[in-house]
Amino acid sequence: MKIITVVGARPQFVKASVLSRIIDLRDDIEEVIIHTGQHYDANMSDIFFEELGIRRPNYYLGISGSSHAEMTAQMMIKIERIILKELPDLMLLYGDTNSTLAGALVASKLDLDIAHVEAGLRSRNKAMPEEINRIITDQVSKYLFVPSESAKMNLIRENINPDFIFNVGDIMFDATKYYSNIKHKMSPEVAKVVSNNEAFLLLTLHRQSNTDCKETLSGIMSALEELSKDYLIIFPIHPRTQSRLNSFGLAVPDRVQIIDPCGYLDMLALEKASKLVITDSGGVQKEAYFNYKKCITLRKETEWIELVECRWNTLVDPTNIGDLKQIVLTLLSSKEPRINVYGDGNSAKSILNTLI
Ligand code: UDP
Repeated sequence: MKIITVVGARPQFVKASVLSRIIDLRDDIEEVIIHTGQHYDANMSDIFFEELGIRRPNYYLGISGSSHAEMTAQMMIKIERIILKELPDLMLLYGDTNSTLAGALVASKLDLDIAHVEAGLRSRNKAMPEEINRIITDQVSKYLFVPSESAKMNLIRENINPDFIFNVGDIMFDATKYYSNIKHKMSPEVAKVVSNNEAFLLLTLHRQSNTDCKETLSGIMSALEELSKDYLIIFPIHPRTQSRLNSFGLAVPDRVQIIDPCGYLDMLALEKASKLVITDSGGVQKEAYFNYKKCITLRKETEWIELVECRWNTLVDPTNIGDLKQIVLTLLSSKEPRINVYGDGNSAKSILNTLI
């Protein structure tokens, strides 16, 4: 079997790493990796390939930084040429980025079967670019690997054949489990934070709805300023967020300590050492849970509803934040039971067995 995998963004490198590793162990499966270049900085891309031991991509497309349409269209043209040359049996896609969408559209037009990992997630907010990417990718995929029963139900409601929906749990749980056991040398700034005795909250922020509106971003910074009077906040900053803060002329509060975007192993170390996580990231919401940390999600809705239902994740409307300190205090003092809501961390194996 010859598989063509399309990745392009940070969370996809994490997801692909676990499955690609076990694919590489087999002689009867060849995987051709396309990296679209959507994320390209050393600390948003290269470090993931190095640290997670992902094979160098067979094709690097170098497409980033333009509008959604331009980026997706350029990816489509190049991915089509590669498929016609490589003649794979299957396209493997992860998540909900423009790279996912581009791969899905090209493969479906060429009548190539698609396997979608992290299928069935819905925020029910169509203003979110990722939501459109998810819906379209699921509709044209043949094999839908969902992380939960709720994701499966979402697909069934959209008339997708249940025979091709497989609840395999969340592949990011595989990644958290596997890489938590890998020893690594932390970057000096992360090592300092982790070894320091001062308790800290970990913050990530990059969703377009939070970064691209000056009022919303300014409201978030004000709420963080209040919160940071009581808690040190560590903020590995996403390049998009840094660029919007600069162009809006907004400052990050003093006790919110900015660090560069970090590698995945450093990120796991920060999640483990933090008291609580504040984020708008899909992946970080779950990693907080996998690392036994309560999470505040700065969004009106989430596609990871199980974590809200079991009260390990609290949604806070970023346009009307209110008293963040009170929410932190409540979460830190509450004792919620903890069960594995996204499988047992053997998702990659189940996916591969199903495909074989
Ligand atoms: N991540 C990382 N370094 C950082 C911030 C995030 O390695 O500085 C990892 C994080 O641990 C998770 C993934 O990136 O595995 C989440 O990606 P991101 O938040 O960019 O995207 P989303 O999950 O929201 O699509």
